[in-house]
Amino acid sequence: MKPSLIVHGGAWDIPDEAVVACHSGCRRALEAGWSLLSDGGTALDAVEAAIVVLEDEPVFDAGFGSHLNLDGRVECDAIVMNGATLRAGAVAALQRVQNPIRLARAVLERCPHMMLVAEGAERFARDHGIALCDPADLVSDAEREAWRVCSQDKHATAHHRGHEQGTVGAVAIDAHGKLFAATSTGGTCCKLPGRVGDSPLIGCGCYADSTAGGVSCTGYGEAIMKIVMAKTATDLLRTCHATFCVSDSSRDSSGPPSHSCAADTAMHVAREAVHLLGKRTQATGGLILLDCEGNPGFAFNTPRMAYGYVAGDGSFVTRV
Ligand code: ASP
Repeated sequence: MKPSLIVHGGAWDIPDEAVVACHSGCRRALEAGWSLLSDGGTALDAVEAAIVVLEDEPVFDAGFGSHLNLDGRVECDAIVMNGATLRAGAVAALQRVQNPIRLARAVLERCPHMMLVAEGAERFARDHGIALCDPADLVSDAEREAWRVCSQDKHATAHHRGHEQGTVGAVAIDAHGKLFAATSTGGTCCKLPGRVGDSPLIGCGCYADSTAGGVSCTGYGEAIMKIVMAKTATDLLRTCHATFCVSDSSRDSSGPPSHSCAADTAMHVAREAVHLLGKRTQATGGLILLDCEGNPGFAFNTPRMAYGYVAGDGSFVTRV
């Protein structure tokens, strides 16, 4: 099977001055993931490599440079999910892990549970060879300054260079047809300590099922949870694909190839899921997805979303 890869760096009101860094971050994430996939590597390695790049890039709200909570500390959440087994590894409320996605993967592969939080998650990291960092190592100057202004005044988007959200995500399918999806975030700025959003919750901020597709979401977590957005989009992929593509092609073999139908369907599903978010919760956000054939879909109802995917000819497409 031909590998596929799509990444995002959050849906928000990305200011003009952040656009170049968002493009570059998405491109470097694609390069990191694609160099593995195109060489026969696994989708799990690819999503991890892509997310590490995005976590390390402070223009995004994940890993280093995440938004600070009300106490002025970074608290990160992450998840990675295996579409073949439906097993996920998720972590939340981490204050001392440089790359939360690495710990999520360790939970996926080496933990009897699917989600660990706070001190328990950090103890699991230490016990499994993932070094803990100083919490201060995760704080960027820009976010420290934004937090300082917020705490003197009140929390406001304007204090955060005009944006509030920039969670990151990736979905990949490898040459063996294995599908993985992943999401990593610092959550919302000035959140209450201990707040966990949609991102690390299976079915909310991320979902993968090899029989339908994989999804990573971004946006206002409390709203995304209400519509279980990633699972909703995955279910829509399955239903729409069966309705529009399979039955169409079995009815009329002279019609358009099922590939283009599936590609249209992937985009349609992404838009429908975001439409539902707006309609049922009046909130903003976005998502990326790959259907089980590797067709990309993406949609958002915010002014901008940073995302990128590998096109059919192997070229990298990034958009902000
Ligand atoms: N969904 C994330 C959260 O609520 C934020 C984001 O996507 O930017 O924690």
